[in-house]
Amino acid sequence: MGPTQFSSLPLEEAVLSNLESIGYHQMSEVQSQTLPHILNGRDVIAQAMTGSGKTAAFGLGLLHHLKPGQFRVQALVLCPTRELADQVAKELRRLARCLPNTKILTLCGGMPMGPQTGSLEHGAHIVVGTPGRVAAHLRKKTLTLEHVTRFVLDEADRMLDMGFQDEVDSITKCLPAERQTLLFSATYPDSIKKVIKRSLVDPVTIKVEQVHDDTTIRQYFHKFDAKTPRMTALQLLLLKHKPESALVFCNTRIESREVVEELRIAGFNAIALHGELDQKERDQMLVLFANKSVSVMVATDVAARGIDINELDLVINFHLANDVEVHVHRVGRTGRAGSQGVACTLYKNSEQNQLDKLAEFLGTELETTPLPSLQMLNEPPVKPPMVTLRIEGGRKQKVRPGDIVGALTGAGGVAATQLGKIDLFDMCSYVAVEDAVAKTALRKLGSGKLKGRSFRVRKVHH
Ligand code: AMP
Repeated sequence: MGPTQFSSLPLEEAVLSNLESIGYHQMSEVQSQTLPHILNGRDVIAQAMTGSGKTAAFGLGLLHHLKPGQFRVQALVLCPTRELADQVAKELRRLARCLPNTKILTLCGGMPMGPQTGSLEHGAHIVVGTPGRVAAHLRKKTLTLEHVTRFVLDEADRMLDMGFQDEVDSITKCLPAERQTLLFSATYPDSIKKVIKRSLVDPVTIKVEQVHDDTTIRQYFHKFDAKTPRMTALQLLLLKHKPESALVFCNTRIESREVVEELRIAGFNAIALHGELDQKERDQMLVLFANKSVSVMVATDVAARGIDINELDLVINFHLANDVEVHVHRVGRTGRAGSQGVACTLYKNSEQNQLDKLAEFLGTELETTPLPSLQMLNEPPVKPPMVTLRIEGGRKQKVRPGDIVGALTGAGGVAATQLGKIDLFDMCSYVAVEDAVAKTALRKLGSGKLKGRSFRVRKVHH
């Protein structure tokens, strides 16, 4: 591992002091390994996961080479999902705080084209987008990439898994040959190797140690059998750990739906995140889960892509992942940012082989922990602490979080400490409130006004 001080890099003073001010005192491993090459202009392939600090690694590179005086698209970042694109843009804006007038634009599917075209007409330095939408703008000639000097493929494996191969190819064809390309991916299937061959030149390859520090994530392996079947084992683990936020991984969409049905019958507050949801439904589910109105989310690997929920206290592998790297990626979603996380994996006797492979990959012995006693099934599942209210007004109506807090906490309202997360979308907003004050909050919001207008408000059921 190289030096870990940002000051060892040829970065401007303003950039260094901004890094200090946002609390980045030392480089993460992926940053210390990639940044010297990225700043040097080399093409880089980095095997790193979400949570490793990869966004700042490529972000600092993009910003370092940017010419703010030239108001045209100089960098393009492709991400698999809108959520990830939004997170990347947010991180880039934070890093660019010290570089006034840097315009960063997101171009994602599921949003109307018109406003994006309008923003493109006003110009941007960096575009962050999903492949389908970026390709659509290129076809309509509302976007040109002829001045792009930096190209980033973020979570490239997911992008290909989601079927974006053709779009990525068509976008790459529109880029100048003379450019720097950075590719980040958690895994390296053959499809990625083809992309690498076609789009990167003499790349430096970096692999960040994926094995998590045992002090932040505790992994438990539980064997189930006919006496305590898989579904019962899952319930026992949820009853034992009492998570406020647990992510349960299934290998298929059908299975994830069935698991949610069974969990609901058993009294758990659970939702399934699957690929058939439209963007609005998906947004709403993620809001409910992130604001602690739903404590169990069941998802497939594909559906869980791009979700970034902090404070995820439990990950359960309902089915062993087919690939060891996928296992590590799933488990890595808990224990973020130094907090303690727990990951439980269910397996059966005939899967011992797969478990051995995993142990070899992780370089440790994997001990099997007995499942909690069946008596635990007599205990009621814990209820989520919050409920969510949906307001039919959002950014377009100029609703701001402060307006919602103000409307809820006035005379006869709820205390600010009883409010949770607020999420704003274009046409609606969500606010989490403690379960005990849901009725008061609903009444207060329903009878009051936001921005001088009354909006319809309802409790979200799921
Ligand atoms: P990422 O892998 O890009 O999604 O980043 C994971 C998280 O780590 C984000 O919340 C970043 O803000 C944060 N982060 C990135 N680099 C650093 C750093 N050098 N020091 C502290 N936090 C960081």
